[in-house]
Amino acid sequence: MNTFKELGLNEDLLHAINDLGFETPSDVQAKAIPILLEKDTDLVALAQTGTGKTAAFGFPMLQKIDINSRTTQGLILSPTRELCLQITNELKLYGKYCKGLNVVAIYGGASISEQARDVKRGAQIVVATPGRMKDMIKRNMVDISKIEYAVLDEADEMLNMGFYEDITDILSHSPKDKSTWLFSATMPKEVSNIAKKFMHTPVEITVGNKNEGTNQVSHEYYLVNSRDRYSALKRLADANPDIFSVIFCRTKRDTQKVAEQLIEDGYNAGALHGDLSQNQRDMVMNSFRKKQIQMLVATDVAARGIDVDDITHVINYQLPDEPEIYTHRSGRTGRAGKTGISMVIVSKSEIRKIKSIERIINQKFELKQIPDSKDICEVQLFSLANKVHNTEINHEIDQYLTSINALFEDTSKEELIKKFFSVEFTRFYNYYKKSQNLNVTDSSRGGDRDRDSDGGRDYGSSDNSSRYFINVGKKDGYDWMSLKDFLKEILELGRDDVFKVDVKESFSFFNAEKELQEKILAFFQDFKHNGRFVNVEVSEDKGGGTSRNKRRSGSGGGGRRSSGDFKPRGERRSGGKSDFGGRDRRGSGDSKPRRSSSSDSSGPNRKDRRAKGDFKPVESSFSPPRRSRRKDD
Ligand code: ADP
Ligand code: MG
Repeated sequence: MNTFKELGLNEDLLHAINDLGFETPSDVQAKAIPILLEKDTDLVALAQTGTGKTAAFGFPMLQKIDINSRTTQGLILSPTRELCLQITNELKLYGKYCKGLNVVAIYGGASISEQARDVKRGAQIVVATPGRMKDMIKRNMVDISKIEYAVLDEADEMLNMGFYEDITDILSHSPKDKSTWLFSATMPKEVSNIAKKFMHTPVEITVGNKNEGTNQVSHEYYLVNSRDRYSALKRLADANPDIFSVIFCRTKRDTQKVAEQLIEDGYNAGALHGDLSQNQRDMVMNSFRKKQIQMLVATDVAARGIDVDDITHVINYQLPDEPEIYTHRSGRTGRAGKTGISMVIVSKSEIRKIKSIERIINQKFELKQIPDSKDICEVQLFSLANKVHNTEINHEIDQYLTSINALFEDTSKEELIKKFFSVEFTRFYNYYKKSQNLNVTDSSRGGDRDRDSDGGRDYGSSDNSSRYFINVGKKDGYDWMSLKDFLKEILELGRDDVFKVDVKESFSFFNAEKELQEKILAFFQDFKHNGRFVNVEVSEDKGGGTSRNKRRSGSGGGGRRSSGDFKPRGERRSGGKSDFGGRDRRGSGDSKPRRSSSSDSSGPNRKDRRAKGDFKPVESSFSPPRRSRRKDD
């Protein structure tokens, strides 16, 4: 069963599916659609977020309802306003060739009379949050006495949020002989109870193992002292310039505090929690969707509605009280076939929680090291270099070039590059130069290896290798294994010649023996892959990810080309949204004197605005135009 057509969908739907660019049905779609099309049955489907559940119930419902009738035939209940709107929009897209289709969303925080009016016009499908739905039934604004299909979407989350009674109430107004389709990521007792109560011998389908996190997500934990939690968070962000993340805190207060602190420190952050007005929450979510916010700090409840693809990292700033909640958190990344990382910052006393989560998700966590100053400076520098290299020239600059050129008349290209990069690099360098190692050793586990990078051979100070930067990364579909294979193949190298491969979002690092340097650099002089130039440079750092003591010695790299020598060649690569200190400072823009200490108390992203030579009064001099990556990757 490989195509949507084979699942039995009609031409109108296939046409829309084609427009959407869906090529093959996801697992849950392949399993649910034929069953739901074939007979009127109850169904319980267990599948993680991001597996395409909306279409799994949406396609069959659209095909089965009578579009020529104006009676409400389908009801979809979902936990939040956000999800409700998303489902409505998706259904409209799926049904765009179903002439006469009317899907109406019903949710709190918006005009009830307008929603009632939309329903009255004849909505075959109503998508609703339980609270508002109950309200509208009570006020006779919607009639579900003739529905044939009821969907409980994200049933576990609805029950988590305390909607049990509302759901019971709502369903009591619907016909007994309808079909009920329940979709859930997990199957806690409450969900099986509701299934027992409202469903008759439902067909059960499970995608992946029950209660298992999606394996598109890798799970990492970082062991620090509690007081270093915030500093650790910042380092994780600094070591991942392309980060697009949700950061989970346990309480509204902590959520607000962490977000404020991040904004203060110059990051693109925002808070999402229940103490904000609906309007404020909408604004935050809009900025997040547009990637103006790179770090969304949220409570579990507020994050329920987050259905954004492309989230690269979920960071558990604090672990949830219930280990089951972790699945919901980590499911925010690794959506739509992409990979993601779920990071947990823990103190020693919380390690047992990691173990119980491991049992639930049936996956192991990797113990990883909080990046040290050198790691971060290196990543940031190359990220900026990569961005500069890929930047399209803005010819508005031309009019100023005469004076700028005059200023740099006596500066060589080499010197200019050094100066240019020092502008940003020095900030990170100064900030981190006295910083401490935040990692705490975990005597109880140990032995865990760095999985995201290729540990490869263990190199000591006698290391005779060079570290290379290459401008391909996760964005281009590589992980360390595939990049290693790719390099070995094109360079015709042996099994162990490439090692310590560390893949970042838009670029990567790897090591190879010094004697191969000439060959490697020569090879990449003009190397094009998939139509674009691949750039490889020697990095000064020896690399090695986690082995901080091993790397200070040795010359590292050297080579013909220094790491600052970035040839402006090749075409612009799409993407390149890495952000080297270019984070806009939204919110508090003051420059109060603040505590200065070596322990990450302020932030490297926070440029001192009083510093001389600042080209612009605001700090967005490197802020890239943010490209939405949704669906076009
Ligand atoms: P879930 O409800 O399981 O969390 P969604 O239904 O929201 O997942 O789908 C997640 C994303 O995947 C959406 O952007 C959706 O458009 C996309 N999607 C769904 N089905 C397919 C498919 N068969 N092929 C490609 N993309 C899909
Ligand atoms: Mg969904």
